[in-house]
Amino acid sequence: MSTIQWFPGHMAKARNQVQEKLKLVDIVLEIVDARIPISSQNPMLAEIIEHKPKIMILNKADLADPKQTEVWQAYFKQQGYASIAIDAQHKSQLPQINKVVRTVLKDKIQKQYDKGLKLAKVRAICIGIPNVGKSTILNRLVHKNIAKTGDRPGVTKNQQWLKVNEEFEVLDTPGILWPKFEDQTVGTKLALLGSIKDSIYADDDVALFALDYLKTHYAPRLLAAYKLNEADLDQDNPDLMLFLTKKLGFKEDYDQFAQRLILDIRKGRFGRLTFEDVVLATDTVGD
Ligand code: GDP
Repeated sequence: MSTIQWFPGHMAKARNQVQEKLKLVDIVLEIVDARIPISSQNPMLAEIIEHKPKIMILNKADLADPKQTEVWQAYFKQQGYASIAIDAQHKSQLPQINKVVRTVLKDKIQKQYDKGLKLAKVRAICIGIPNVGKSTILNRLVHKNIAKTGDRPGVTKNQQWLKVNEEFEVLDTPGILWPKFEDQTVGTKLALLGSIKDSIYADDDVALFALDYLKTHYAPRLLAAYKLNEADLDQDNPDLMLFLTKKLGFKEDYDQFAQRLILDIRKGRFGRLTFEDVVLATDTVGD
């Protein structure tokens, strides 16, 4: 869990550092949490990386709703980006990264071969907000255990290249950027998934958001997990919270139920969940 505090000075440093590193690479791997693909993005990444090619890596796909992940991948495709859904923890789909990088950079690679080079090397950097899985991805990609630098922007050291294979190298430290803190819902979602310190957002606010989302997007799972009747969901959210607090044996202790709900979500009691949905532009669906 990251405890980093993002003050303006840190943001400026992080931005400069990422910009320096970008000069060294051919392509950016933007790591996001597949459960909240937009809320786990840095708000200024597009501006920071400018025209550098980018691939979206939807990590923690093992925890996300697979149907929603497909929709999100279609969305990123519409935006002009290749994407890969992976589970870095269990190394699922990781080899895809190399393949997609070489597809996106095929013209550049071809030029290297045309020049007579035997190997066409490409270099990448992982970039993302804290806790999306950057270090896990790096370690799994290069089959090593790279020490985590401790999400601190501004700590500079000599850059080194780590070999994924003879033709693909990644920078040994990821680019760490700040989350979209100015948006309250984004903060709530990050807190719900354990990506920012629990103390920043009140548990009951986070739980209220989660309950509402489950009610509107995953009602059958909510009914099953807490043995509710459909009519129970007719109550407004604060009443439903109180109803569940009592039903689960927490008497009037709203906060205890809030913590329980958050834990149940994180532990997978409701199955694989995505907390952000997107409506695709219809004219390109099915492409
Ligand atoms: P970083 O701050 O972006 O470098 O994130 P870390 O690599 O430290 O990962 C944050 C947490 O997420 C750790 O507890 C990881 O074990 C976990 N994690 C990373 N990738 C995955 C994944 O694909 N699936 C699951 N379930 N957990 C993951």
